Amino acid sequence: MDLNGKALSDVIKEEIAREVLELTSKGLRPPHLVAILVGEDGASKTYVKNKENACKKVGFNSTVMRFAADTTEEDLLREIAAINENDQIDGLIVQLPLPAHISEPRVTHAIDPSKDVDGFHDVNIGKLTKGEDTFISATPYGILQLLDRNGIETSGKHCVVVGRSNIVGRPMSILMSRNDNPGNATVTLTHSRTRDLASYTRMADILIVALGRPEFVTADMVRPGAVVIDVGITRVDAQNEKGYVLKGDVAYEEVKEVASWITPVPGGVGPMTIIGLMQNTLKAYKQKLANRTA
Ligand code: NDP
Repeated sequence: MDLNGKALSDVIKEEIAREVLELTSKGLRPPHLVAILVGEDGASKTYVKNKENACKKVGFNSTVMRFAADTTEEDLLREIAAINENDQIDGLIVQLPLPAHISEPRVTHAIDPSKDVDGFHDVNIGKLTKGEDTFISATPYGILQLLDRNGIETSGKHCVVVGRSNIVGRPMSILMSRNDNPGNATVTLTHSRTRDLASYTRMADILIVALGRPEFVTADMVRPGAVVIDVGITRVDAQNEKGYVLKGDVAYEEVKEVASWITPVPGGVGPMTIIGLMQNTLKAYKQKLANRTA
């Protein structure tokens, strides 16, 4: 059965919009998310546009700051410092990847952790690792909610994660192993050096795939009845208007015949990632409000 991220994201968007309306009807300003976009990368532009649209839907203020591809790191850091100081801004994200002459770690660390709604700052990653309250990065946060809101039990299950990136695979493996719900799974984290990958994926009760290779996971790699979460999004050339189609890392048509639950691409993890970002922005806003009234 499909784990429908699009439908769940619509439900949660309504919940957030209701909460924002309650806040603004008390005379408070709405939450405000700023996205920084450097350069002209097509996929990045689409992602930022989707985030902007989601902000509108839930009633947030949103600002997109666009910088030319040859912007210096110094200029970018100066802008981030100004945003950190701006009390009217609750959340800041810098769309990755950045041009090669700009250091991603330096930029990520320049963001005030209390506005780091992508959850990429070391402070927030540290808190996540220790199981403390923090901004869980948007994709893993969205996946947790897909599991939770569909009543999928994770406790005691074997979760196999394919891919160990800092934004998806690794945090996902930490979250699934924490003593919480969802969580309490026994986790195996696999990557490109894993020998005989299929022998691990076939052991998974919950298989989370984030490697960026279209239709890499085939039906013979999946245990019958497994829950399959497909994070991958790759543009594959096609003879249509756009000139491409989006493909996941899982061969959906064949794997859906063996899996109990599976996320489609598009319409699975993607919309839930945006929801994770909206929820983190609301959280940042509420934390600021609480600090001001404390
Ligand atoms: P990265 O490229 O940062 O990481 C890919 C990971 O996959 C690496 O750890 C790599 O291993 C591993 N890997 C590569 N080849 C193999 C292999 N043959 N067998 C096992 N492991 C392998 O990717 P991301 O995590 O950033 O993204 C993964 C995919 O998810 C992409 O398609 C991306 O577009 C998509 N994505 C989707 C999001 C959404 O909202 N739906 C959000 C973020 C990403 P090693 O470390 O050894 O190199």
